[in-house]
Parts: sequence; C-alpha cells; structure tokens
Amino acid sequence: MKKPLLQRLDEGPVICGEGYLFELERRGYLQAGSFVPEVALNNPEVLEEVHRDFVKAGSDIVQAFTYNGHREKMRIIGKEEKLESLNRSAIRVAKKVASDFNDEPLVAGNVSNTNIFNPSDHSSKEKVRLMFSEMIGWCKEEDVDMIIGETFYYLEEALLALEVMKQHNFTSVITLGIMAENILEDGYTPTEACKILKDSGADVVGLNCFRGPETMLDIALDIRRNVSGHIAVLPVTYRTTAEEPTFFNITDKKRTACPQHGRCFPDALEPLYCNRYEIAEFAKKAYENDIRYLGLCCGCNPAFLRAMAEAVGRNTINSEYSPDITKHFLYGKDPTLKKHIQDLGNKA
Ligand SMILES: [Zn+2]
Repeated sequence: MKKPLLQRLDEGPVICGEGYLFELERRGYLQAGSFVPEVALNNPEVLEEVHRDFVKAGSDIVQAFTYNGHREKMRIIGKEEKLESLNRSAIRVAKKVASDFNDEPLVAGNVSNTNIFNPSDHSSKEKVRLMFSEMIGWCKEEDVDMIIGETFYYLEEALLALEVMKQHNFTSVITLGIMAENILEDGYTPTEACKILKDSGADVVGLNCFRGPETMLDIALDIRRNVSGHIAVLPVTYRTTAEEPTFFNITDKKRTACPQHGRCFPDALEPLYCNRYEIAEFAKKAYENDIRYLGLCCGCNPAFLRAMAEAVGRNTINSEYSPDITKHFLYGKDPTLKKHIQDLGNKA
C-alpha cells in the first residue's frame, strides 16, 4: 500500500514535477500553440522517459499527462475520436513508470482549465462539468491515487472540477493560475478562492503556472497565513517581475521575441529562465513557511526539480550527480590540478 498524499504532507515536503507541455514541446514531440498532449499516443516511450527523469530528480508524484487532453481541445484539432484513448494511454504510462520505482510515487490524474468556461453562460458550465466527468471517470476506471485540478483562472470552474473529484472520492489537489491583475477572473482574490475551495472539501489548495518564483511566493504566503491545511505552490521557471508578473507578457531585455507573434511566450522564453539556485531559494522560503507541496510547472526540468528537492532536505536518486565543482579543471580544489591551468580561471 502506497503512503497517501496527506500522510506524506503531514510528514514533510512532497515534490511534484509538472510542465510536461513545455518539456515535450522542447524535445520535439508536441506543437507550441495548440499544445495538445498527443505524445501519450504517438510517442509514449518519450513521455515515459520524462516521467522517469522527474521521479529520479525527486518528484513524488507522476502526473498523467492529460493537461489539455480534453474534449474541446481535441475538437479544435479535429481528433475528438482519440480523446478517450489519449487519456487512458497517458494514465497507463504514468502508472507503468511509478511501478518501476521501489519507493513508489503517487500517480495523479489531471484536469485543468477548459478555456470554454463562461460565468454568464449556463450551458458552458454544463459542458465543462461533462468534460471533467468523463476525464475523472476514466481516472477512476484506470485507478489513479489522486487527482490534480490545475491552472484554473475562474474559481467557479475549479469548484466544478472539485465537485466531480469528490463524487469519485478522490484525494484532490486544486491549484489556481493567477493572471497579472492578481485576482481570479470571477473577482476573488487568490486567498479568498483557496479558502472557498478548502471549505468545499479540497484536500490541498494553492497556485500553479503563469508566474515565476518571484511573483508567486507572496501570494502563496498570504494563502498560507489565511487558509488551513496543506498548501501547494508550483511556479513556472522564468524570471517574472512585479512589472511583468506572468510569463504571458514577459519581455526579453534584448527584445528578441518570436517574429510570428512578437512575444516571448511561449516559444522564445529561453533567455528568461531562472537558474537552479533561484529555484532552490524559492523552495526553501516556501517550505520554511510551511508550504509543503512544492513543484514546478512550465519550464521544469530535472536539474531544477532536483535543486528544489535538495533545498528542502531531500536526497534524490540523481543527487549523486548534483554539481560539485571541486574537480573542475579551472575552478576545482583537488591537489592534482595544475596551478598554471587554474591561473587561467579568471581570464578564461
Ligand atoms: Zn504551467
């Protein structure tokens, strides 16, 4: 029997590697723009590898890659008939990877923002409910350990997802995506929204995506101060600032952007990455403030995730390869290193 999520959180930090859309796009297995996780059907072996790399870097959760794998998105790309097989395949890939590890990670199903939710249109809400019901129903049949509902920018949509998760008795993690105005699109502050989600029965509430460490932490700390239970925080790994709080409208000092659309988001963000020490610092501060569910969203890679895990005291499978400059030919300390070579260090 695997240790359940809430018990793990009561005992210490839980790490969750996310950001599969960006990582698999970067590797060449899905398209920026439409961002549909077809990789679960077309290249499951690649998806497996990314899951495995994240677990080795410290992830305690293997999140089935069904983000955007919902009916509306599949309709837009004309592949609605593949919806169910994509979802089932993604869950099976996640379960297969988890079962390969001794200390078995949890397997999470995933639903997210549908982008059709309209607060003033009742029929859109019914459509959203059906989308969540079918996806979470498949999660039940495939027997996952928990469900992550994420990147909701309407509280009401998040509540719909939560309701369906609870109908199926799933452990629920609900995280919100906060756009630049610092509020949910139905007017709630992040803290108010998390409180309502918590009071409605969500097991873990918090934030994911859109914002980097620098513009997510303070919002998360306010949630921590005002909401009981465990809090989750999963930023993107880019250097967002008070002036440019989300990665949607972040600019590059060199003013380089994609010539097609004039933005850095989503395919010209590379110069704006945080480094792993910034990620570690963020994780440390969050954990010191009793935020225990820590992860990374878009821009996540194994080195970032390992830095995060180690910052909160974890030793990962890949920690044996964590940086150690003492053996470096220019900057090392080993007595066998040559002085005339090391003298080159500051002018190299
Ligand atoms: Zn993200």
